[in-house]
Amino acid sequence: MVSSPRSSGPVPRAAESPPLETQPNESGGGPGELRSGGDAPRPTVPDRAREALPAPATKRPEDGESRGSARREAEVAISTREYRLFYGHLLALKGIDIDIPGHSVTAIIGPSGCGKSTLLRSFNRMNDLIAGVRTEGTIRVGSIDVFDSSTDVVELRRRVGMVFQRPNPFPKSIFENVVFGLRALGLKDRGDLEARAEASLRRAALWDEVKDRLRRSALQLSGGQQQRLCIARCLAVEPEVILMDEPASALDPTATAKIEELILHLKSRYTIVVVTHNMQQAARVSDRTAFMLAGELIEYDRTKQLFTRPSQKLTEDYITGRFG
Ligand code: ADP
Ligand code: MG
Repeated sequence: MVSSPRSSGPVPRAAESPPLETQPNESGGGPGELRSGGDAPRPTVPDRAREALPAPATKRPEDGESRGSARREAEVAISTREYRLFYGHLLALKGIDIDIPGHSVTAIIGPSGCGKSTLLRSFNRMNDLIAGVRTEGTIRVGSIDVFDSSTDVVELRRRVGMVFQRPNPFPKSIFENVVFGLRALGLKDRGDLEARAEASLRRAALWDEVKDRLRRSALQLSGGQQQRLCIARCLAVEPEVILMDEPASALDPTATAKIEELILHLKSRYTIVVVTHNMQQAARVSDRTAFMLAGELIEYDRTKQLFTRPSQKLTEDYITGRFG
C-alpha cells in the first residue's frame, strides 16, 4: 500500500506505509497494576523526580529556544476530546482530553499497559491496522480531523511520522531506506532524491557517519545508527509531527544520548511525542509530560512542574516509585 504518485506542488507527499504494516505489536502485558508502596515512608520530595531532573546548574533544554518556540507552542498541534479506544471489549483508552502544543516535545509516561502506545498510534491511525479496534471521540492533528471519513490516511501518516522501539530499516541500502517514502510518491529525479537524502540524513545527525557508504546495506549499521536512519526516513517526507514509541529503549547509553540530543534538536521544526518508561529521559528531553494510568490521562503539565509539584496524588505516587 503506497500512495500513488501525485503532483501536488514541489513537496512530495508520501507515507511510510510498508514499515507501518511490518511493525510487531509492541503492546503485551495487562493493564498497569497498582503496587502498594508497602511501609516505605512517603518522601516529601519526589525522589525519582529529583534524580530525573538535570542538576540546577545545567542548562534546561528548552532555554535556548524558549522564546522562539513559546510563540509557536501556543498553536495546538494535536488535540483529543473524549477519545476512547476499544480492543474488542477492552476499553483501553477511557476518554482522553489533551492539547499538545506544536514545536515542543511531549513525553508520555505511565506503567506498562496503561495505554501509551495505543494513544500514540491513534494520532496517525495506526490502530486501524489492528482488527477489532473501535474508537469514539475526536482527534485533530492541525487542521485534520483524524477519524473523519474524508481523511486521507496516507497523507495523515506522511504528516504524522512514527519511529518505533526497535529500529526497522528495510533490507536495502542506506540511501534507498531514506528515499523510500519519496519514491513511493513518485519522485524519480536522481539529483532531487540525493539532495533530499542528504538533507534528511544531516537532520537526523547521521550524514557524517554514512556519507561514504550510502550504497551499503542499512543492516550493517549499529542499532543507534539504524534508529537515526529510521528517523531520517521519517523526516524525508517532511512530516509535521513525529511519534516515537520508546525510541531508545533497545539502545545502549551512548546511542540513547544521541537520540535524546536529536529529539531536542528536532523540536524547533517538528512536534514530537515520545513514549518512554524512563522518567529521567522524560525529564531530559520533554517540555511537557503526560502521565497515564489504566487508560486514563491523569495529569499533563510542564515537565518540571509535573516532576516537582504534581497536582495529582497518583502522579506523585508514580514518580516517587510507589508503583509502576
Ligand atoms: P503501554 O504502551 O502503555 O504499555 P498499550 O497501549 O500497549 O500500553 O496497551 C494498553 C492496553 O491495551 C493493554 O491492556 C494491552 O494489553 C491492550 N492492547 C494493546 N494492544 C492490543 C491489541 N493489539 N489487541 C488487544 N489488546 C491490546
Ligand atoms: Mg507501549
